[in-house]
Amino acid sequence: MNPGMIDRLSALEEEARAEIARARSAQELEQLRIRYLGRREGVLTQLMKELGSLSAEERPAAGAAANRVKTAVSTLLEETRAGLDGGAAGGDAEDLTLPGRATWQGARHPVTLVVDEICAVFAGLGFTRVRGPEAETDWYNFTALNTPLDHPAADMHDTFYLAPGVLLRSHTSPVQIRTMQEYAPPIRVLVPGMAYRRDPFDASHAPAFEQLEGLAVDEGITFVDLKATLAEFARGLFGARTTVRFRPSFFPFTEPSAEVDVSCILCGGAGCSACKGTGWVEIMGAGMVHPAVFESVGYDAERYTGFAFGMGPARIAMMRYGIPDIRLLYEADVRFLEQFA
Ligand SMILES: [Zn+2]
Repeated sequence: MNPGMIDRLSALEEEARAEIARARSAQELEQLRIRYLGRREGVLTQLMKELGSLSAEERPAAGAAANRVKTAVSTLLEETRAGLDGGAAGGDAEDLTLPGRATWQGARHPVTLVVDEICAVFAGLGFTRVRGPEAETDWYNFTALNTPLDHPAADMHDTFYLAPGVLLRSHTSPVQIRTMQEYAPPIRVLVPGMAYRRDPFDASHAPAFEQLEGLAVDEGITFVDLKATLAEFARGLFGARTTVRFRPSFFPFTEPSAEVDVSCILCGGAGCSACKGTGWVEIMGAGMVHPAVFESVGYDAERYTGFAFGMGPARIAMMRYGIPDIRLLYEADVRFLEQFA
């Protein structure tokens, strides 16, 4: 047995442990590794070379002790380095002169941008934004809106029913009913939200889509108010020279009803491929609230009148940004979406 060798190994391990504990960077640890375990000049390596000069009976114990110290120091170096990588101690391992990494930054979806812009224009006209549930009863979605349940729109084949009498709303109009049940006139609300229809998912249709509608109810509201409000909205959203055109239409919940066109924002009304040469682009449906709708919420249809309108922000976003396929808006492809950030 060579107590001298064992003692020197113990002293070396103690020294190495203290040095490693003081290390503050991966570089310092690497220097310590070379100093103690380096293949040629390492202190421990040198010591192990001396094992050969020991007697045959001393060599096994000293060799075992040397191996144990080598393993202990090596393990401690690795563990300490892992701790540094985990951020336990940064110190001078960080190069502050390197350029920073760009962080991910979220942005609003192009449809949300359009919804917010529309709401801002109507806010200037006194409209408040409200929301309602996307799962509705057939009474709110159809019956209260003067749409009988044998109407084609209420058919099983055209609507997503969740349970008998419960469905994914096919338009945002149930929120008109909920608003009128909760508040007395005057009412001026704007309702953005998702609506669901059993449409094919193709370039111009989506089974789940954003809708935005408005409702105004008060004494003495006429079709003139409807026209003036929507003309002001069109100028606010599409530019001061935009004009609107009303074409007769039919909706169960308004009477009279109209489709509303705006002068084409691309050609100014001269006619182009976007407006199919007509100079007009259809953007919404509108009309005076049907008295039957007022009756279903308990409003006095002799005293109050009102108008309602509804539009598809996705279509307006497509028109504004020149998006050729509605599916692009739902694919969540960052390469597409970051153009709008
Ligand atoms: Zn045009």
